[in-house]
Amino acid sequence: MTSMMSWQYMIRSIGNMIIPPQCPSCHELVSSDGMCGECWARLKTITPPACVQCGRGFDFDAGVARCGRCLTQPPDFDRGIAAVRYNAMSKRLILGLKYGGRHDMTPILGRMMANQGASLLHQADWIVPLPLHWTRHYSRGYNQSTELARAAMKAAGVSPKIYRPDLIKRSKRTENQGHKTRQQRRQNMRGAFRLCKNKDVVKGASILIIDDVLTTGASLSSAARCLKAGGAKHVAVLVVARVG
Ligand SMILES: [Zn+2]
Ligand SMILES: [Zn+2]
Repeated sequence: MTSMMSWQYMIRSIGNMIIPPQCPSCHELVSSDGMCGECWARLKTITPPACVQCGRGFDFDAGVARCGRCLTQPPDFDRGIAAVRYNAMSKRLILGLKYGGRHDMTPILGRMMANQGASLLHQADWIVPLPLHWTRHYSRGYNQSTELARAAMKAAGVSPKIYRPDLIKRSKRTENQGHKTRQQRRQNMRGAFRLCKNKDVVKGASILIIDDVLTTGASLSSAARCLKAGGAKHVAVLVVARVG
């Protein structure tokens, strides 16, 4: 008897013969869904040694768990993992998803996050995509962090029941942080998030926040602070790419 899986496989195979799959980055034809080898090779995975708190990759193993910055000015989240370094290749993929409506990138980015951040995805009581301010969400039509969170959870085989986009909201619309200093970013993000659920849900919980890029971590730190103020025991972050 033919199972559902083999039907799906057959339909996909026929589909691939009519419209062969392409690398979503360079449009080169590929044999199965995903990126071509050349584009993969240009992504730089962050592997240990890396800072356990902010995910920054270390150039050499000095036998320390945290980077100098996390030792002197720690963010409000306890752990952080980034799948890859932010370079021309990862930037292209992320900008495609963020501003180009390239939703075909999502499963690939989700798999990368699941590969590197499986421990964080499996340890979390709740998984929260970093929210956009509603005005930005409205103008973009979607939140890339929501899509990444769903894709990473699916790739890691985590129950969708722990997906909680309703725990916090962004209550302050902040302008682009690109040109701001680290200190200004922190200042700018102060009070940017608000807890929207009853504190009982958050109290004592281990929460994982998902976002696309970590630059200084000011937004993620602000969201973590909000969850900690609500009684969260542990807050971790998982992102696609880490700047620096
Ligand atoms: Zn390619
Ligand atoms: Zn660090």
